[in-house]
Amino acid sequence: RKFVYDFTEGNKDLKDLLGGKGANLAEMTNLGLPVPPGFTITTEACKEYLESGAEPAALRDEVSAHLDALEQQMGKRLGQADDPLLVSVRSGAKFSMPGMMDTVLNIGLSDASVNGLAAQADNERFAWDSYRRLVQMFGKTVMGVDGDLFEEALEAAKRAKGADSDLGLDAADLRQLVEDFKQIVVKETGRDFPQEPREQMDLAVRAVFDSWNTERAKLYRRQERIPGDLGTAVNVCSMVFGNLGPDSGTGVAFTRDPASGAQGTYGDYLQDAQGEDVVAGIRNTVPLADLEGIDKTSYDQLMAIMQTLETHYRDLCDIEFTIERGHLWMLQTRVGKRTAAAAFRIATQLVDQGLITEAEALQRVNGAQLSQLMFPRFDDTVAEGGEVRRIGWGIAASPGAAVGKAVFDSYTAVKWSRSGEQVILIRRETNPDDLNGMIAAEGILTSRGGKTSHAAVVARGMGKTCVCGAEELEVDTKRRRLTAPGGVVIEEGDLISIDGSTGKVYLGEVPVVPSPVVEYFEGRMHAGADEADGLVQAVHRVMAYADRVRRLRVRANADNAEDASRARRFGAQGIGLCRTEHMFLGERREMVERLVLADTDAEREEALGALLPLQKADFIELFEAMDGLPVTVRLLDPPLHEFLPDITELSVRVALAESRNDANENDLRLLQAVHKLHEQNPMLGLRGVRLGLVIPGLFAMQVRAIAEAAAHRKAAKCDPRAEIMIPLVGTVQELEIVREEADRVIAEVEAATGTRLRLAIGTMIELPRAALTAGQIAEAAEFFSFGTNDLTQTVWGFSRDDVEASFFTAYLEKGIFGVSPFETIDKDGVGSLVRSAAAAGRATRPDLKLGICGEHGGDPESVHFFHDVGLDYVSCSPFRIPVARLEAGRAAA
Ligand code: PEP
Ligand code: MG
Repeated sequence: RKFVYDFTEGNKDLKDLLGGKGANLAEMTNLGLPVPPGFTITTEACKEYLESGAEPAALRDEVSAHLDALEQQMGKRLGQADDPLLVSVRSGAKFSMPGMMDTVLNIGLSDASVNGLAAQADNERFAWDSYRRLVQMFGKTVMGVDGDLFEEALEAAKRAKGADSDLGLDAADLRQLVEDFKQIVVKETGRDFPQEPREQMDLAVRAVFDSWNTERAKLYRRQERIPGDLGTAVNVCSMVFGNLGPDSGTGVAFTRDPASGAQGTYGDYLQDAQGEDVVAGIRNTVPLADLEGIDKTSYDQLMAIMQTLETHYRDLCDIEFTIERGHLWMLQTRVGKRTAAAAFRIATQLVDQGLITEAEALQRVNGAQLSQLMFPRFDDTVAEGGEVRRIGWGIAASPGAAVGKAVFDSYTAVKWSRSGEQVILIRRETNPDDLNGMIAAEGILTSRGGKTSHAAVVARGMGKTCVCGAEELEVDTKRRRLTAPGGVVIEEGDLISIDGSTGKVYLGEVPVVPSPVVEYFEGRMHAGADEADGLVQAVHRVMAYADRVRRLRVRANADNAEDASRARRFGAQGIGLCRTEHMFLGERREMVERLVLADTDAEREEALGALLPLQKADFIELFEAMDGLPVTVRLLDPPLHEFLPDITELSVRVALAESRNDANENDLRLLQAVHKLHEQNPMLGLRGVRLGLVIPGLFAMQVRAIAEAAAHRKAAKCDPRAEIMIPLVGTVQELEIVREEADRVIAEVEAATGTRLRLAIGTMIELPRAALTAGQIAEAAEFFSFGTNDLTQTVWGFSRDDVEASFFTAYLEKGIFGVSPFETIDKDGVGSLVRSAAAAGRATRPDLKLGICGEHGGDPESVHFFHDVGLDYVSCSPFRIPVARLEAGRAAA
């Protein structure tokens, strides 16, 4: 195996092996772009190191060979005293993990070579500045010294000099600072800062390997669902310098605006600085467009390169570059992260430019982004109307509308959010140590840093609202307060609102309004109505791409006409689950209670008689809303306890009455009955088909209501397409009994009304036994709908009502699963039952219709699975229908 690749040897498709950064550096090198020469140590080397605790035996020689070649090419040796070659050692995993892992610049500097560098660059200040950066970065990331100690020493030096930035320190100050830093290293580690260049490099490589497994990197991977065993590659790259004076600098750029998708010049530039200064937000940057005035040649060249990259990658790219004395160097590129809105716009723009196909455009967006766009936004009329006060205006770094209590440190953010508070994390700038707080917060506000600052990049990645660089706000983390212009002071715990789409910051709580994307789906806004920002138009077009290619149909879980109509507007192709028990909540609950508790046939008939007209009216409305489309009505499936009085409350009431000697006969009877029906495990109890078999006439009443409602609609020359679904079936015998009765009732209604109804009867598959005997069950069912909520509950033996609150957090933390199996289908367990039951059902009945109506029907990853398994449709709640349509399209494209 080969562990080291020169930049000329790789390409962009080798991300597994070379990491994203290494693969793209190679790609740029081979495109002929100005990339400083270097080589990449593979992820395989890292994995072997992490597994065995030692570098692979062959690694050292391979590195030596590549280093030799690099030295030959550059005409100088690493750390050579009179003219040192310096290198950067940078991590680069397959998936970008911004700021999570380590980078060390200026490797090769030492007490000896710093003078050579000064002489070669004819710049003593620069050489000592580079050296102090090396000792600082190396000390912190490789030798494990607390970074604050260096920061404090740097601050002290600036204070002594009266300098307000590090540019105010001269060569002598920096030389002293290097001495101070080296002292700190000795004091903290008991070892000297290593002077031998190759030793520096080897230790830095090892530190990068080790950084794969830091706590913050692990946390980030869990968040982003990045597998933990990929390892990182390490890039060793010859140094170019942005800190050589005003004709040098470093910057970050995007080929389009990552927030909106608009075309133009986007990025930040910092004169006389090294790379980490920009991303860390240490000094304030200037907009990239200003570079044109500073160095027109480099600017023009950069613009041309960005054009090349975009056409080559056929996507938005982000870029890190450095200008060394007027010479432009590309240090990194990758397909850039973007906001949800930008993703949709860019996808359609690229289709228009002929760079990608519609099918590819579908892969450039996803359901999570679409659902983000469906979140409400702040009501600007209120926000600007003087009722709440705008206190600042920063950079719109990651969109969304977030309201919460001000907190000033990560620890408090986590603590408060655990106790159910919504918080906004406010920092001067963030760094990777703030990750926990950022995850816990509703939104992030910083007073420094641009669109590429740590806060902005990480928040965008998480889909969190972020406003950064709100410079007029003064953040005092020590005293936990924020001061706005005009002396407005926000203390910890005060409510603030931040708008990540406009960058505005408000004191108090701003009300929210629906998103334009929802307005569009609702039919209240036309796709062409937003020429200015084009988002709705882009969503409209992408949805059309998805609808054109998807094979899965999308239905709604809805049990009233209002939800059904909304679902239809959102694109539902029918109702996949009408939960009839939802029709008996509220004031009708007592009617069910009477039915369940009925002692005599007469009482029961009376209760059923009262329910029939109500049910029929419900169904008429539903069939009307979904005229011409299938409506699957599920017969009653209540966990019984939801329909009976609470046993504790009732017991207390009766006991109190008894102590007062005025116990009421009815209550006593009720209590007795409730006791009799009380179950320890209602979810495994008298539910679903069992209830229908135990309470005579219940299902017959519902079937009659469905049939009569359908006949009524037919008589009105409409097109009702009702389907009757039996819940919680475990064996075909249950289904056969219910079917016989249903067929009889339907025949009666058909005879009485003189209409042919053609009502399909099917079942839910939501018990393991049903899935295992699906072949038999299909004899009596015209369709299956997988109830993956109950199927997950019964396959795992997890109570769906309790589990999220009890041990799931621990399971998620331990990585037993990355996401709750109630949210995303467990492919290996529950999913494999779905797969085999679908096959067995179709073997019995080739035209068996197959759907799924558990919560997973609207979950992006699960939709792909159901597509693969070959189901006919997914059914989900109305608001998730657009997401399901999109993902079904993505699965098929
Ligand atoms: C299911 O179990 O997946 C289902 C859709 O039924 P319910 O959620 O109503 O139990
Ligand atoms: Mg169920």
